[in-house]
Amino acid sequence: MLTNLHWLGHASFRLDASRIIYFDPWKLPKDSRKAGIIFISHDHFDHFSKDDIALISTKETVLVTDKSVGRQLEGKLVCKEIKSLKPGNKIEVSNGVKVQAVYSYNLNKEFHPKEDGKLGFIVTIDGISIYHAGDTDYIPEMKDYACDIALLPVSGTYVMTADEAANAALAIKPRAAIPMHYGDIVGSNSDAEVFRDSLKDKVEVRILKKEK
Ligand SMILES: [Zn+2]
Repeated sequence: MLTNLHWLGHASFRLDASRIIYFDPWKLPKDSRKAGIIFISHDHFDHFSKDDIALISTKETVLVTDKSVGRQLEGKLVCKEIKSLKPGNKIEVSNGVKVQAVYSYNLNKEFHPKEDGKLGFIVTIDGISIYHAGDTDYIPEMKDYACDIALLPVSGTYVMTADEAANAALAIKPRAAIPMHYGDIVGSNSDAEVFRDSLKDKVEVRILKKEK
């Protein structure tokens, strides 16, 4: 399953499963595969790129996002449907693909206030659950986020640090954790390595190679 998961840099991923799924597509190559479902965690430019969304959307694409992005895209995107969710919502997106929208916010900085309703997503597809955390700190709700694979930010500054992210992974207990949100804007490979080394013999960490 992990071999079907492609890190496209920063918080951007594509999963090639029974549907083509993107999380926070950003700086995509022009020949990118079209999306079945696009998840957008919140409206900051490095997660919500209208150009990249338009590039991969077709009349069959379903976009799942928070209230703010939903408002900004309504009527302006060629797609099948836009589903705007709040933390706590659980829906079936299409054909057996389920998503739970979860909290994603800062505790000790002001970039992502809890009341904004910015999102993380726990997506279940083909019997595997993948958690994309969005821009978040290590928040108390995470201990209730069950998933097989956790995509966690590690750069600090706007999100949790690598050490905090390691504590988050210990609380979530995924089968595998993948560091993200580094290598562009903030954070470097060393953040991903600190994350991996802190979790040695506790949680399997896969550092994905950036594609493109
Ligand atoms: Zn953000």
